[in-house]
Amino acid sequence: MKSGDILSLRNKLCKKIEELREVVEKTNDGKKLDTFDVPDLYDRATLEHNFNSEMAMRNKLESLLHDIHDAVVRIDSGTFGNCEKCGNPIPTKRIFANPLANQCIHCMEKTEMKQKIRRLVASYNA
Ligand SMILES: [Zn+2]
Repeated sequence: MKSGDILSLRNKLCKKIEELREVVEKTNDGKKLDTFDVPDLYDRATLEHNFNSEMAMRNKLESLLHDIHDAVVRIDSGTFGNCEKCGNPIPTKRIFANPLANQCIHCMEKTEMKQKIRRLVASYNA
């Protein structure tokens, strides 16, 4: 990637971080759900459902924020575009398609396979 492209990408990522932080701040900011005073079971279930949905969305946004921040750190440290597992360059096409990619396809497939095996083993042990 050209340095101008990387700088432009860095600016886009930083802008995205600001946008996402605003959204995260608007979602439930660590408040706990207290339905003790809600007598109606249906109302309580609805409140709990909405609260859980909001927390799930917040967790996803925070994970995305973390990934974007990591990409900015890789840009600043000069390691952006290199696979974090094997160190080989990640093809530019892949970086343009997914600027948050931190592994080459080969290493990503190996990582995903390990995760699948771990989940399978965990489901058998459960
Ligand atoms: Zn790799």
